Amino acid sequence: MAMLPYGRHAVSEDDVAAVADVLRGDRLTTGPQVDGFEADLAKLTGGAGCAAVSNGTAALHVAYAAAGVRPGDEVVVPPMTFVATASSAALLGAKIVFADVEEETFTLDPAAAAAATTSRTRVVSAVDYAGHPADYDALRTAMSGSDALLLADAAHSVGATYRGRPVGSLADVTTFSFFPTKHLTTGEGGAVASTDAELLRRARRFRNIGLVRERDEQRWPDEGGWHQEVHEFGLNYRLPDVLCALGRSQLRQLDAFLARRAELVARYNEALADLDGVRLPVQKSWAEPAWHLYPIRVLDGRRREVYGTMRTAGIGVQVNYIPVHWHPVFADLGYRRGSCPVAESFYRQQLSLPLYPTLSDADQDRVIDALGAALRRRPTRPVAA
Ligand SMILES: *Cc1c(COP(=O)(O)O)cnc(C)c1O
Repeated sequence: MAMLPYGRHAVSEDDVAAVADVLRGDRLTTGPQVDGFEADLAKLTGGAGCAAVSNGTAALHVAYAAAGVRPGDEVVVPPMTFVATASSAALLGAKIVFADVEEETFTLDPAAAAAATTSRTRVVSAVDYAGHPADYDALRTAMSGSDALLLADAAHSVGATYRGRPVGSLADVTTFSFFPTKHLTTGEGGAVASTDAELLRRARRFRNIGLVRERDEQRWPDEGGWHQEVHEFGLNYRLPDVLCALGRSQLRQLDAFLARRAELVARYNEALADLDGVRLPVQKSWAEPAWHLYPIRVLDGRRREVYGTMRTAGIGVQVNYIPVHWHPVFADLGYRRGSCPVAESFYRQQLSLPLYPTLSDADQDRVIDALGAALRRRPTRPVAA
């Protein structure tokens, strides 16, 4: 039997047709599908404007650049995330300050964020770990008195709400990823959302090499009709029309994707409720998560063993994530293990069970049975001579 993955895309014949239509047309990159995708996405963000970019890492790089992050600035990041939340700011010369996560949601702890914020803090980045929103109101309160911007890395949480407000409208700037395991996919893709028009304008410009095409903003507008100029450096992080067409088609299925994920989460919650040796993900009363991961905690130091047993049984469990400050690139800069104990002890227990819209009930039952069997199995000891 093939290994069940921990996450995978769902691509329909409508998606294939939407892409093929663009391929038969005149424009493969920047064209009407980009504007259309951005407008469709903005319907999900409670009015925040969106800029499509080439992936979620690019979205973070664009967002930090648009926020004005430069050498000497500090950026506060929780360690329980994918490395890109931190590395994209480090590339701009920022000093990353890791702040620990909360015990239940494993999102940025507002008290830890407050303690980590200084006069040099340019951005505080929250991550909606597993699809559960961070506590944005508490983070705002924790940041009062600081000029720092609040960033939401919403790679896991498009479609989620916090106290009834949609992800995308909760922070000064929000980033999305459309990698195949995420809620919707464009193969590679991402977006930046912001209610701040100036920040969004800077984001669009950074995404497009920094080119200034608006005549009224140019230093030498009379150069000629061909003229474009660069005032600040940028990169080519554009998402092509071909992929934006896929994104628009995927967005039409997002409600169904999220509904199926919620159904699978409810089935896991029920089936695993009485299982000894694990803890299940917690949902706060103020959040309506969009579950991207189903992160359980394997107790009694058995995570490595259960990971191995599940893999051998053909269940592609995953671990999300190694604490970011443990990566050698941060260790070499002097970051130490032990500095974020909540994230670090969570990491030692964490295991993501398969969760994706096309996971069948029967395959989910296989996961549930395999987990029960793995936990009942007692590690074999060498026989004493
Ligand atoms: C996936 C992910 C990213 C990066 O997105 P890519 O599209 O893979 O570059 C960033 N942050 C988090 C939390 C992610 O899960």
